[in-house]
Amino acid sequence: MIPLPRELRQCRDCGESVLITVTRLGRYLLVDPRPDERGNQACYRVGPRVWHSRSLDAAGAMPPAAWEHRYVPHVATCKPKKPKATQEALPILPANVTRLDPKRRRRRRSR
Ligand SMILES: [Zn+2]
Repeated sequence: MIPLPRELRQCRDCGESVLITVTRLGRYLLVDPRPDERGNQACYRVGPRVWHSRSLDAAGAMPPAAWEHRYVPHVATCKPKKPKATQEALPILPANVTRLDPKRRRRRRSR
């Protein structure tokens, strides 16, 4: 099964076409738009513009069924055009100075 052009979206990071699928846990998973035998995701259309995916690497996973095709998760092929902001991009502080802002952010999130 091959997605229709109108079912594809553009990846926000690299601009390539991707197919958005829903995993068995209800999470979104982006896969590359063409079936690929190297892929570890079994994908199939369940309704108009709705695709499901399941991991073939999961413990006890069944092999792909007749209505499923293998797809590669897009995260494996995505080449972001602009690098994401990381901590390495922050200014380098002297060895005896502790950066407080990442710790503050972490603490706020855990509440
Ligand atoms: Zn991408």
